[in-house]
Amino acid sequence: MTKIFNIDPRNFKDCELEESAKILNEGGTVAFPTETVYGIGANALEEEAVKKIFEAKGRPSDNPLIVHISKEDQLKELAKDINKNAQLLIEKFWPGPLTIILNKRDKVPNCTTGGLNTVAIRMPSHRLARKLIGLSKVPVAAPSANISGKPSPTKGEHVVKDLKNRVDGIICGGHVQIGLESTVIDATGEVPIILRPGGVTKEEIEEALNMEIKVDPAIEGYFKKDLTPKSPGMKYTHYSPEAQVVIVTGNLEDTAKKIIELKKDAIEEGKKVGIMCTDETKEKYDGLVYSMGSRKKISTIALNMFHILRLFDETDVDIIFAEGIESAHLGSAIMNRMTKAAGYNIIKC
Ligand code: AMP
Ligand code: MG
Repeated sequence: MTKIFNIDPRNFKDCELEESAKILNEGGTVAFPTETVYGIGANALEEEAVKKIFEAKGRPSDNPLIVHISKEDQLKELAKDINKNAQLLIEKFWPGPLTIILNKRDKVPNCTTGGLNTVAIRMPSHRLARKLIGLSKVPVAAPSANISGKPSPTKGEHVVKDLKNRVDGIICGGHVQIGLESTVIDATGEVPIILRPGGVTKEEIEEALNMEIKVDPAIEGYFKKDLTPKSPGMKYTHYSPEAQVVIVTGNLEDTAKKIIELKKDAIEEGKKVGIMCTDETKEKYDGLVYSMGSRKKISTIALNMFHILRLFDETDVDIIFAEGIESAHLGSAIMNRMTKAAGYNIIKC
């Protein structure tokens, strides 16, 4: 049985978190909101607790977890060899949506790190999340609180749908603030490498470090089959709704024309079609159309994208045609998730 806690993230008392903190402290699992997406947490230092996360999500065991901390003191307990760049990243972006890969200490169990010698660590900026971790008195491993392969949850109701009766507790705390997972950066070497684009952009990191950083080329997609991603999670299919997703990129006018043409063909083949677009073009389409938000405010697109992918699961569409987003700043993280949801099925026009 899963205990559901409804808590207002802007106005809560510590005592409302006591029961869920106790569950975490005693080796149980609790899903909770963070600023990026909802996470499913367990004591990162206890192998049996961490195994429950993998079971609940159906997550492959070689896909390591991000360990969430509430204060900087916890960092040295988990990681070693923290170099100058790592220190700068921490000062500049924590608490916030940046996960830093560092060499792990022996006490971090192998199942938390998928057998790697490194550990991924993040301090969330979400006040409720940090309070919960603090009260639990343990570092909290917490991947996204969805069944593996499904779109990440951005609202309590998404988590309840996926994980009810698979975890000990779920804290429903409204809508998350960003809607995309954290940026993952490997800071073990001299030049940091982005392993997954996310809430903090490459541009922001380069400005903070005053240097050019690298991006793992495997991020770009599985069509470069000879590349093994440095972040094991990047090799799995992700974020997929039930229907097939096809992304159309190009200038907006041509993209809309192409989508209308593709829709006509698909209907002739007897398929039910959905369209995922932006405010700028939504008037051009008819039928089942969801806008992710305005291209002029890319953060709204980040916030809505996973929710809209999930909305299509409540319909009977067979195929979704989605407009691509310009791949700069937050747009590159959005496109990374969308192209994975589409299984890299992209039409350029
Ligand atoms: P999730 O928690 O589901 O948002 O995914 C966490 C991401 O961080 C996955 O892509 C993992 O592969 C990646 N990750 C976690 N730990 C490590 C690590 N030690 N080295 C490289 N990537 C990691
Ligand atoms: Mg995930």
